[in-house]
Amino acid sequence: MLMKFLRVLIKKDITKAYFQNSGDLILCDFPSERKIKSFKRQIFILIDLFGFRINWHFLKAKAFLIKGDFPIIFDQKPYYGDFLIVRRGFKFDVINIVLMKDYLIGVLEAEVNPSFHFETLKAQAVVSRSYAYYKIFSRKDTLYDIDATRLDQIYEGTKYKNFKIVEAVKKTEGIFLFKKRKIFPGFFSACCGGVTEKAQNVWENLNISSCSVICPFCKDSPCFSWRIKISIEEFESKLKKFGFYIKVKGIYPISFTDTGRVDVLKIKSKNDEKYIRATTLREILGFDILKSTFFSIKILGDEIFIEGRGWGHGVGLCQWGANKMAKKGYNFLEIIKFYFPKCYLLKL
Ligand SMILES: [Zn+2]
Repeated sequence: MLMKFLRVLIKKDITKAYFQNSGDLILCDFPSERKIKSFKRQIFILIDLFGFRINWHFLKAKAFLIKGDFPIIFDQKPYYGDFLIVRRGFKFDVINIVLMKDYLIGVLEAEVNPSFHFETLKAQAVVSRSYAYYKIFSRKDTLYDIDATRLDQIYEGTKYKNFKIVEAVKKTEGIFLFKKRKIFPGFFSACCGGVTEKAQNVWENLNISSCSVICPFCKDSPCFSWRIKISIEEFESKLKKFGFYIKVKGIYPISFTDTGRVDVLKIKSKNDEKYIRATTLREILGFDILKSTFFSIKILGDEIFIEGRGWGHGVGLCQWGANKMAKKGYNFLEIIKFYFPKCYLLKL
């Protein structure tokens, strides 16, 4: 039996939060869901050394629920689902317990270009659904299933503003990506840069393998190729924030993945050298600055020049490529089959 609800970690380790809706917000015990108290339209939560303060009322609890008419606004975003608040020391986490359908609509709103073809949106709905269920089954022991950030899939509540997205989720309901009788996490990135990456090249400890395909469909996309330059001074200061103290004299990719992306780089100073993974370098420089690990790098004078292809890790569905396929007349099933050739689709 497939779970209809998903527990999404929205915020981690915070000390205050504000929720509002247009009716009553009801505080309930967790896990019994017994009503504790209700408040009109807004709840302000603070945590101190003694416990929670809810609209200045003291609440001694490890965790509690917030229910009420949807949408519930949190962090200026509308959510369709209850909230679970969990204390962790003197901070707390905010988890949204949401219907899969509302979650998927929110993910598509945040992750896909809304002007994309309907078949692209349907393909995205299938891969995102498969990814979410994969997370439910692989993370059973904690209080949440999935992260609302790029660590998993970006989810910023559900706005219900795009009819095409709502329809794409509805029309593909119950369709999943499978591999060897298990739901397969539908990885995706904005643009693969011409060849998709293998999952095992990006996440060594995930124990998931996928194959790479040559993608001829994304080369006209705005993120197919890019170039950036950054001063050595700025580069060094960004490295420093991550604990790499080095006066940079040279940067050399020393190993590549079998799809041609940079795996490890050597950073040289006058009499020292450090090694860094290209995926870590993306985190250090910013995922939207060093858009992928598919790049070449050189130093000229006191500046570093990086030229690259694609946007994102490149594993699985290439969104811009998928959109080109849809425009050429491929349907969402054919698009998914192209990017996940060893997987099959099942309707449950
Ligand atoms: Zn592509």
